[in-house]
Amino acid sequence: MESIKAPRGTRDILGDESWKWAYVLKVCRDVADCFGYREVHLPVFEHTELFCRGIGDTTDVVEKEMYTFEDRGGRSITLRPELTASMVRSYLEHDLRNQSQPAKLWSAGPMFRYERPQKGRYRQFWQVDVEALGAADPLVDVEVIGFSLELYRRLGLANLEVVVNSVGCPACRPVYRQALRGYLEPRLPHLCESCRSRYDRNPLRILDCKNPECKAQTEDAPEIEGSLCPECREHFAALLAGLDRLGAAVQRDKRLVRGLDYYTKTAYEILSGDLGAQNAVCGGGRYDNLAEAIGGPHVPGVGFASGIERIVLTMESQGRSFGEAPRLDAFVVAAEDEARGEASRLAHQLRAAGAAVDMDYAARSFKGQMKAAGQSGARYACILGGKELARGVVACKDLGTGEQEDLSREDLKSRFGRS
Ligand code: AMP
Repeated sequence: MESIKAPRGTRDILGDESWKWAYVLKVCRDVADCFGYREVHLPVFEHTELFCRGIGDTTDVVEKEMYTFEDRGGRSITLRPELTASMVRSYLEHDLRNQSQPAKLWSAGPMFRYERPQKGRYRQFWQVDVEALGAADPLVDVEVIGFSLELYRRLGLANLEVVVNSVGCPACRPVYRQALRGYLEPRLPHLCESCRSRYDRNPLRILDCKNPECKAQTEDAPEIEGSLCPECREHFAALLAGLDRLGAAVQRDKRLVRGLDYYTKTAYEILSGDLGAQNAVCGGGRYDNLAEAIGGPHVPGVGFASGIERIVLTMESQGRSFGEAPRLDAFVVAAEDEARGEASRLAHQLRAAGAAVDMDYAARSFKGQMKAAGQSGARYACILGGKELARGVVACKDLGTGEQEDLSREDLKSRFGRS
């Protein structure tokens, strides 16, 4: 029988990699604490309707990429493709409007999208997601972008490009949409099939198309900045001034769009020069009309999501440090078979004192255990034999220098103990 493999587009994160993830997530948590964002854990699946209304029916994510199924109770359920809609749902459901605003929330976990897998693009991937809900102030946009920049600074990421744009609001976007349609109409025959279908439903998305011919055709398209209403114009100016005050180098990118009505004003992305085709490490922006789209009151919001796989890939290709890999303090070695029970007890005692300890369970010879101790990367081998047991000591061998000394259990605990 053929052995069963993990589904296409998923990855097992094994021990030689998972500690790097733990490091990245710890830095996320530290930055969240510094910025005053509180962690939330949300369901991995939601009612399908949340994403249809909260991301938008005309997006690729909703049209083609969702893992949707009917549960045993006949409800349409979707594995979350992103977190923003869930965050807003949770905010509304728990009346966070009654607490001080903005509600500053963050979360991390797996997302699911049925995309064509390639380097940096998976069907199950992790995101860290940061959202500030209940404030329209452009300085909150500055804070959110500042959060992502501080995260990457602490992780040591270099060679990043920050691109920003304003996508306007329902008051000014229709004007731009018309101008864009007017520009695109004679060019329609040259656009790809997806873009031709976007023309009626969501023409802004055509600016986002990666197809080289579509890119060339939209090269001289009118810029949205010219159509912004005074409020959006002012917000964008305040955002750029705020980012400038932080010393953040940003590029304006007129192609950057979130072509749905509930995305408003700020849109931004951070691109890595070391990722290849899937080069976005982070994407975010403002969505002042999303809460209403999912049936709530008006709640302005702004946030970003960043892919953990892409952060780790960028750090690896730039040779960044993930802190120290976990390492054993000691490997307990039973010099004779009779000492194995006592070795097990010693390992447990040292672990209870906070030390990282392992031992042999394959009944290896003394020599075999010493070899296993070396291979385990432990700093010390703690050797127990009849001689040591009789004297109430443990022979502690430094596996780096080869030096050995007899220590009492109390001495050992204070040498390795952390708790
Ligand atoms: P989005 O929600 O599409 O704006 O994506 C936000 C971030 O999530 C991107 O900038 C990527 O870092 C990451 N991301 C999105 N889709 C994937 C995927 N299929 N595989 C891995 N990372 C992804």
